[in-house]
Amino acid sequence: MSEQANPFESLQEQIDDAAAYVDVSEGVLERLKHPERVLETNLSVEMDDGSVEVFRAFRSQFNGDRGPYKGGIRYHPGVNRDEVKALSGWMVYKCAVVDIPYGGGKGGIVIDPDEYSEGELERVTRSFAKELRPLIGVNRDVPAPDVNTGQREMNWIKDTYETLENTTAPGVITGKAIDSGGSAGRVEATGRSVMLTAREAFDYLDKEMEGASVAVQGYGNAGWIAAKLIDELGADIVAVSDSSGAIYREEGFDPRDVKDHKNETGSVADYPGAADEFSNEDLLTLDVDLLVPAALENAIDSDLARDVDADVVVEAANGPLTPGADDVLAETDTYVFPDILANAGGVTVSYFEWVQNRQRFYWSEQRVNDELETIITKAFDDLTDAYEQHDLANFRTAAYVVAIQRVLDAYEESGNWP
Ligand code: NAD
Repeated sequence: MSEQANPFESLQEQIDDAAAYVDVSEGVLERLKHPERVLETNLSVEMDDGSVEVFRAFRSQFNGDRGPYKGGIRYHPGVNRDEVKALSGWMVYKCAVVDIPYGGGKGGIVIDPDEYSEGELERVTRSFAKELRPLIGVNRDVPAPDVNTGQREMNWIKDTYETLENTTAPGVITGKAIDSGGSAGRVEATGRSVMLTAREAFDYLDKEMEGASVAVQGYGNAGWIAAKLIDELGADIVAVSDSSGAIYREEGFDPRDVKDHKNETGSVADYPGAADEFSNEDLLTLDVDLLVPAALENAIDSDLARDVDADVVVEAANGPLTPGADDVLAETDTYVFPDILANAGGVTVSYFEWVQNRQRFYWSEQRVNDELETIITKAFDDLTDAYEQHDLANFRTAAYVVAIQRVLDAYEESGNWP
């Protein structure tokens, strides 16, 4: 069933769809659909009570034709080999669509971090870093945070790597704290690229952003920053939600006040002045100019897609639409701008972090934001050019056409190495 598709099969389907518009031989297409290598390892870690527990962990290096493998490390009980392979492939095409000089990778540990102490998590992370050491490096493979990992884990990995290599190499990992070599502007980067994509999409479609109605599903890092920056463009944020509930007000909210309320109470729900009886599903089917899904994958399936009433969808989350939902929306008047462009601000500012680490010269936040804007607007133009040139059914296929062509060009220019 496509709705619950294996993510690795979904990735391969997306590559096949786009490859129809690219001049690629069957053998090379196979290369674009499979990882170059996958590390599967078992970490034996001592727990606080002296017992030993074993954790399965993975790192997939999908394609390095355009540069070092790049992609996050997630800690989740549902991590598995196919998920890591798929996520590493999506990173290849995300980096290529914004034209930053990286390939794609992804890693993960099968663990529920809530079940372990900080000391145990540090030992698990350092054990994984030891296993990763021969594979990663500033010019080889540069991991980053993902689900349930952040600056703390990145700093542990960097420290383990530097200690074992007897060097300083802040660029071996991104998403670090500023004092450990992180970049200004990283925290806001994903929401900022969502805003830039929405702004460019409205301009492209001749729609007015001033006074546009906007609904945002998910009010975490990506969703809340996107809401704040889109509000600053003059749009009205009329509905937002989180895992505890959704709120709606026709005249719009001040996203900063809603964030303060969430900080105080733990949720956006019960925000004073919001309409009664408004559900998470109501938000996704609201008649709005712009819908920003910024929570989880598969938030909108083909059934729900039939009721989506937004003119434009900009995907802040990774994979918020099932392939079936994509097909339904392609036949309606809803324009979908894909995750691999819209949320690429995160990896793009990770790239800036790596550039700054290599130069040992750090940029102002203004410079980071300006460089990000240049990259996202150029990528948007490349995507719409491909959409028009090939008369494509949707912007997602256009993004993959652009990205696959770039990976292919890099591969063909390098030649094959047996
Ligand atoms: P987060 O954990 O900070 O926020 C997630 C939000 O979604 C929370 O407010 C949570 O309450 C809400 N949520 C969960 N289930 C929900 C539901 N059923 N209905 C409504 N809201 C729900 O995570 P984030 O960093 O903002 O990431 C969100 C998405 O964006 C993920 O798909 C992530 O992979 C993607 N993304 C994030 C970044 C980044 O830099 N933060 C980069 C690229 C992609």
